[in-house]
Amino acid sequence: MTTIPVDNLAEALRRAHPELDAVRASSEAPVYLVGGAVRDLLLGRGRSDVDLVVVGDAAALAARLGAAKTVEHERFATAKVELDGHQVDIATARAETYPQPGALPEVEPATEIETDLARRDFTINAMAVPLRGAVSLIDPYGGRADLEAGVLRALHARSFIDDPTRALRAARYAARFGFGLEPGTEGPLRRTDLETVSDDRRRADLLRLAAEPEPARGFELLAAWGLVELRPEGIALAARVGELLSAPPWQRVVPRDRAVLAAALGSPGGEERLAAARPERPSLAVELARGHDPVELVLARALGAEWLDRYLIEWRSVRLEIDGDDLIAAGVRQGPAVGRGLDEALRRKLDGEIAGREAQLEVAVAAARGAERCQG
Ligand code: ATP
Repeated sequence: MTTIPVDNLAEALRRAHPELDAVRASSEAPVYLVGGAVRDLLLGRGRSDVDLVVVGDAAALAARLGAAKTVEHERFATAKVELDGHQVDIATARAETYPQPGALPEVEPATEIETDLARRDFTINAMAVPLRGAVSLIDPYGGRADLEAGVLRALHARSFIDDPTRALRAARYAARFGFGLEPGTEGPLRRTDLETVSDDRRRADLLRLAAEPEPARGFELLAAWGLVELRPEGIALAARVGELLSAPPWQRVVPRDRAVLAAALGSPGGEERLAAARPERPSLAVELARGHDPVELVLARALGAEWLDRYLIEWRSVRLEIDGDDLIAAGVRQGPAVGRGLDEALRRKLDGEIAGREAQLEVAVAAARGAERCQG
């Protein structure tokens, strides 16, 4: 990929992140733009979230920035501030050591920005740009050259042992940028043991992969690296789910990342039964679909259950114009028979057999009386 000349960094920085002028003026300690924001700046790609590292006190800088709201995380000495409507994360430069594979690291403050860069995942994310003094590129691992060559290179051989979620991050970047793995990175990455990480952390990174504009490639890569098992036809299913969720009526039914992840990696569940069903009447469709998690609904639709479109648009919101009080007022005794009566009226309404309040009441009362007789 082409990166911008380092000579143009200052101008690119000013254009992409004008809000950082305030940081330059406020910081007493050395402060740097780091991580994905530097990578994206070099690539000339729109703006990404901003991560800053200060060799000093992150909370103090946040306070000096007049942050209306700072959220401090004790453990990692980080603070969030909002500058001109942009979210900026400020962290204290730190060194990390991993007491056990997959565990959260032990951290201590660092006195050099290079130490902080050394704890990062890939060379392309291990660059910094100082915000005070002359703008330059701090690139100890050759990240810019790797960006140009289109490769992901871990900083050291133990990287995926220390933090296996980096393998999931690799899929995200490889898919997003179309990058390959540097040969020395591929071996350790393929040996990653994702089991040493908590389910929550694993899932959080898988969701971030699923949220990418083109997630299918990332899941394919993870499977090719032997790190996950795809659902049969999972890639095609994830693509269809992605399409469905990009337009009405499915657009806002479920968060896209959850549904795409379930499509790619989930084990087949209730959606298979829904997809195989061909309900002959709306009331049967409602009976089948009601109570299913929305993720299952969208998966079933992607598997071919077209009838779910009408369930979503129309049938699931059909309501009666009567309620239990109306039945009781008509002489039905309080109890399960009331519910039976209402269910029957709803069924008939859904199937277009009755219209209007009077007809609903008549059907509901008759069904409730029938139920009362059965109960003796
Ligand atoms: P995106 O472009 O998807 O927003 P990003 O590259 O900005 O992603 P973040 O997850 O926001 O990545 O993390 C910011 C930076 O922190 C990364 O660029 C990387 O340098 C570092 N980082 C994040 N997670 C890890 C990790 N698990 N191991 C090492 N470094 C990490």
